[in-house]
Amino acid sequence: MKDIGFNFETTYTNLPRQFYTELKVSPSSEPETVVINKVLGDSIGLNLSILTDEELATLFSGNHLPVGAKTFSQAYAGHQFGHFTMLGDGRAHLLGEHITPQNIRLDLQFKGSGRTPYSRGGDGKAALGPMLREYLISEAMHYLGIPTTRSLAVVKTGDSVVRESVLPGAILTRVASSHIRVGTFEFAIQQQNPEVIQVLLDYTLDRHFSEVKRQNKSLSLIQAVMERQADLIVHWMRVGFIHGVMNTDNMSLAGETIDYGPCAFMDAYDPKTVFSSIDHLGRYSYINQPKIAQWNLARFAETLLTLIDKDINKSVELAEEIVNKFPEVYQEKWLNMMCSKLGLFEAYESDMQIISDLLEWMVANNADYTNTFRSLSQLERPNNGVYQSETFQSWYRRWQDRLQKNSESIESSIELMKSRNPAVIPRNHKVEEALESATIGNLKPFEDLVSILKEPYTERAVLKAYKNPLKTGSADYKTFCGT
Ligand code: AMP
Ligand code: MG
Repeated sequence: MKDIGFNFETTYTNLPRQFYTELKVSPSSEPETVVINKVLGDSIGLNLSILTDEELATLFSGNHLPVGAKTFSQAYAGHQFGHFTMLGDGRAHLLGEHITPQNIRLDLQFKGSGRTPYSRGGDGKAALGPMLREYLISEAMHYLGIPTTRSLAVVKTGDSVVRESVLPGAILTRVASSHIRVGTFEFAIQQQNPEVIQVLLDYTLDRHFSEVKRQNKSLSLIQAVMERQADLIVHWMRVGFIHGVMNTDNMSLAGETIDYGPCAFMDAYDPKTVFSSIDHLGRYSYINQPKIAQWNLARFAETLLTLIDKDINKSVELAEEIVNKFPEVYQEKWLNMMCSKLGLFEAYESDMQIISDLLEWMVANNADYTNTFRSLSQLERPNNGVYQSETFQSWYRRWQDRLQKNSESIESSIELMKSRNPAVIPRNHKVEEALESATIGNLKPFEDLVSILKEPYTERAVLKAYKNPLKTGSADYKTFCGT
């Protein structure tokens, strides 16, 4: 096969043996390309255009491995819905780290590529629908400006997977800054060997946080991870994204959104929104996301206690001091974000009221989260439908008065709002429609949706068919863990 620019290293396999298992990818019987992300390929130095479809299918099924790749699965643990479990890649193989021409180190991983020692009861496979879902939503997140893993390819394997029905099997090629999770540290601490956790700490600092000060490596790392997590959750809240399964094994230390299973976007604003069919108690609801991020951060900090200070009580005290700061750090970032959604350049404590009044009004009136903010970003005052109400109109006047106090012009406020409030998000019914049709062989709606979502902040006529939620709302919409 032609050289398309792969440039692999595998520093992860320099970690102690426990952290991974080298093993082959299960062969696919008749691989066939479904979607190939040539734009992403180009941006990371891979010239996918020079390969034939057949070669791309062989490559992205793992039937033919690129030079320098070494396939292995990672061990990790995690708190799933609050309960600790030993886990690991049960259906994924890393190929190593591709170094881009810009010298950026990126993990390439196959997902759905067969059983591993960590598969437990699972079959190691993935169905086409959930892999296309991850492709679609992760790419949408990227174009929304949110840190995320990316998707390079989806191929059908030619083999079936048995779920509630028999489905076409598929493999997704995922690109990530790394796959180091809170759960990787939870796994390390289970090894009862201080050296193991120390090695992982050093590796993570070198790989992701070369800029952080290191008087105390562990505390610096906890602090840096907290900042990145707070930034990430603020982004999710900004666009109404609900991850759905914020277990500690799905929390990347690089601060990227990872593992698109039961995630979905909220339509009408309701802080208690949950879509995941298994999240009966709403642990991972929209409004709980920052609290869960803090809970996960606490689990992370616990893994570093032996390294913070020789005196364990002192370690606990120092770690708690950072973790307890999360609500304050988050709140400040959230307030700035909400102010920017309203075109306010500086955020004042007093802006809290105007924001919460709007959000309360939205709950009471079933107002669409995305479309309400986007319509505020136009120059005209919205006054159709629910926006006619006196409560909304008087809120609008208060907001206009507040805008006058901006140091910047009204045009700059509008620009700011248009860059923070998407005109289009992946609407649940459009996602389902695209996936259903792709599973029966018609990729057109999927490709159209992917293409629309590449420019989420630009208003254009073609968006009309993509902007609105279903008239019946999303109250009954259920999502599933993508297996
Ligand atoms: P997730 O909910 O995708 O984050 O997965 C949780 C755990 O289940 C991870 O350890 C996965 O590798 C594992 N897993 C998910 N699906 C499968 C499958 N089909 N076969 C084996 N392991 C799986
Ligand atoms: Mg996971």
